[in-house]
Amino acid sequence: SLGQNVIVIVPGANLLLNFEDLKRASDVICKAKVVVCQLEITPAVSLEALKMAHASGVKTLFNPAPALADLDPEFYTYSDIFCCNETEAEILTGIPVGNLEDAEKVGRMLLERGCKLVIVTLGAEGCMMISGDEPIPKHVPAGKVRAVDTTGAGDSFVGALAFYLAYYPKLSMEEMIRKSNCVASVSVQAPGTQSSYPYRKDLPQDLF
Ligand code: ADP
Repeated sequence: SLGQNVIVIVPGANLLLNFEDLKRASDVICKAKVVVCQLEITPAVSLEALKMAHASGVKTLFNPAPALADLDPEFYTYSDIFCCNETEAEILTGIPVGNLEDAEKVGRMLLERGCKLVIVTLGAEGCMMISGDEPIPKHVPAGKVRAVDTTGAGDSFVGALAFYLAYYPKLSMEEMIRKSNCVASVSVQAPGTQSSYPYRKDLPQDLF
């Protein structure tokens, strides 16, 4: 139905990415400001990338998509920021997320598993963040928009967050999340997965 997404995954080349490839990329990984990992490639390879980044003091942002019920617990401890959506949250914790309170429960459980900071994205409701340093959960709402296609909203959010972490590291996490909500909410207003942000002169330009 309108505004809901249907995704077909054809992993193809993604699953060919291996430890050798990772070794070849180690220079880039270890000098990066941020490393983003997901589960679109072989999980063990993703985890190794997180560990390499972590060992060099590079900020790690992990998005467990597509979700895996038996995620290796090391993913929690090697992620500086663990960012999941409602579906992923439920698969990982068994807690169905229908509201902010459920998301807070998930956040607390993932902190217990070793995450430093957890973000649960909540679609039109924006997201919830909680961290070991700030254990009082915060709701960061998204702006009201007319969603036509939410495919890729999560990726858009994660990509934007990585951008702010790398280029505006002094912003508070709440501010980065607010801006990332804004970028992701642009992506849902057009068909497809691209937000075409810099090319849309009609949109607020204060995100950069
Ligand atoms: P996923 O695409 O992984 O299912 P979500 O649906 O939680 O992830 O969306 C990710 C982010 O995209 C949200 O945190 C929010 O910033 C933005 N977003 C998604 N849907 C909407 C919407 N209907 N209105 C405004 N923002 C949205």
